Amino acid sequence: MDLFEYQGKQYFSRFGIAVSPGDVADTVEEAVAVAERVGYPVVVKAQVKVGGRGKAGGVKLADNIDEVRLHAGNILGLDIKGHVVHRLWIERSSDIAKEYYASFTLDRPNKMHLGMLSAQGGVEIEVVAEENPDAIAFLSIDPVRGLDLGTARRWVADAELDEVAREQTAELLVKLYDCYTTGDCDLAEINPLILTPDNKVHALDAKVTLDENASFRHPEWEEFRATETEDPREKMAKEKGLNYIGLDGTVGIIANGAGLAMSTLDVVNQVGGSAANFLDIGGGANADVMASALEVINSDPKVKVIFVNIFGGITRVDEVAKGVLEALKRVTISSPIVLRLDGTNAVEGRAILAPHLNEKLITEPTMLDAARRAVAFANA
Ligand code: GDP
Ligand code: MN
Repeated sequence: MDLFEYQGKQYFSRFGIAVSPGDVADTVEEAVAVAERVGYPVVVKAQVKVGGRGKAGGVKLADNIDEVRLHAGNILGLDIKGHVVHRLWIERSSDIAKEYYASFTLDRPNKMHLGMLSAQGGVEIEVVAEENPDAIAFLSIDPVRGLDLGTARRWVADAELDEVAREQTAELLVKLYDCYTTGDCDLAEINPLILTPDNKVHALDAKVTLDENASFRHPEWEEFRATETEDPREKMAKEKGLNYIGLDGTVGIIANGAGLAMSTLDVVNQVGGSAANFLDIGGGANADVMASALEVINSDPKVKVIFVNIFGGITRVDEVAKGVLEALKRVTISSPIVLRLDGTNAVEGRAILAPHLNEKLITEPTMLDAARRAVAFANA
């Protein structure tokens, strides 16, 4: 689960990481009230779960009440990369001498945690990594040993942070690591981490992704979950007990098994299409499950074609074929359906479907053929 910046900052505070005083506002008048309370100058910041808000006009400094009104009015309702701003974070503005970058994330292949630290913060780390990779000091951290202050001190020196910032930053990094580990984050990123002209180090931004697998030991995450806006398709799928993830493409996908579903997305991509969803109907792909799956995919206005990719193992293809026919009696589907049925009892399954095939219900013998056929519909 990704957090909004203000939630990330609240989370950081719990681990003793310094952030600027501020509060959220959902209207211009609330923004004014917060600004008057924290004192000018303030920063008015769009709360959307996407980076690059500054460049998109979603972060503005305000010196007085009129400027707060102006910027709050402009930023509320702004569309930043497809995310509409409904909430602002107003905080006391900081003077900036230097902008650094600091983060912890998982290094899965090496089974280690990965710390990244740079004296060149403020810009996207991907850009630094590309144009000036030596400017990032990477630290591989053994999860059993953790990060101690001594290591953090060597790390800040290695990253060539300004001398005056080093000790404070080393201490902050130990706290951020604690937040990342005991706080069960998949990502804890501060960009920019600033040095002020009076030599204080603190977090100006917060990007936190929580590890949902750990939610059982964090009842306090409920408040973060409450502000999540769920994809209506995913909501519907959850209600029907389906393993569904909404995507942006036009090819609706139904497959049995997570691995096959993922391969199906890849093949659709490979032949020039884009998947509208991931959906694994699992084992027993009976009429109920198939009908639910078709309903959810049918509710997605972007879908132009549905690709049903079944490889029968324990699941028998004749059962799946009956399920498809039964489901089609219950749900009216607007898009054409391309099926690839293979594996256990595939011949029997295809025979069941044969009398019902038409220009909107098609079978193809292989996964690649079926993907090509589906993508041809989607791109028509
Ligand atoms: P992002 O663009 O979504 O990463 O949003 P940030 O919170 O990182 O803000 C973008 C940029 O706005 C920062 O890199 C800073 O340069 C600037 N900024 C943010 N807060 C302040 C502040 O308190 N004072 C000043 N002077 N600039 C700020
Ligand atoms: Mn940032």
